[in-house]
Amino acid sequence: MARIDLSVPFAEKDQAKLLGARWDVKAKTWYVPDGVSAEAFARWMPQLAGFGLEHEPEFHVRAPYYFILQSVTECWKCFCPTRVFSFKLPEEHEQFEFAEEDEDTDFSLDSGLGYWVSHGFRGGLSNVVTLSPSVIKQLRSYTTRYEPDYSQKAGAVYYMNHCQHCSAKLGDFYMHSEPGGAFFPTSPNAASVMTLHLINERFDGNGGVGWASEDFMDFMQLKNA
Ligand SMILES: [Zn+2]
Repeated sequence: MARIDLSVPFAEKDQAKLLGARWDVKAKTWYVPDGVSAEAFARWMPQLAGFGLEHEPEFHVRAPYYFILQSVTECWKCFCPTRVFSFKLPEEHEQFEFAEEDEDTDFSLDSGLGYWVSHGFRGGLSNVVTLSPSVIKQLRSYTTRYEPDYSQKAGAVYYMNHCQHCSAKLGDFYMHSEPGGAFFPTSPNAASVMTLHLINERFDGNGGVGWASEDFMDFMQLKNA
């Protein structure tokens, strides 16, 4: 498993150390040691492009409520069926978008000017980079195996599912983007084995929101938390 290096500002080094980060003298970098969950280190982890500007909100995706989606996939490594999780967002969800850079005005990306946009569709969240503490708390009552890990393919750390039998990494791409993938049902029948857990709390997080012309959500089993 690739080690997760952290970019910790000097002023925050004691905090990182307290949380369990180790210092690599040769590479002059803090890192997450084996056997320690990377979750607490999100703010110092390599992030997907598009984040890290000044003056922006901490979370770019928000919703008044949300669903934790439970599905099943076959592990590529041990070939056993394993439970996998992701988030579904209701039509009311909003995304923070940056104002277009415009030479005629004072807008620039550095200013962090932007606005909340509602697209009015239900969304599936993938490549999740960060989640608010209350969302993490809810998620943990369903699984401990959907947690930050390094993806070679994405070249970054994101919340990734892990096989419940052999702990192999189960990346988001295939499950979200390939028709028939664990989170990409193509028929009511395929959707009927998936479970939506309704969480009646605010969602705040960072990740990619995707949608399908037909998401078959109405055929999934709905459970109230
Ligand atoms: Zn496995």
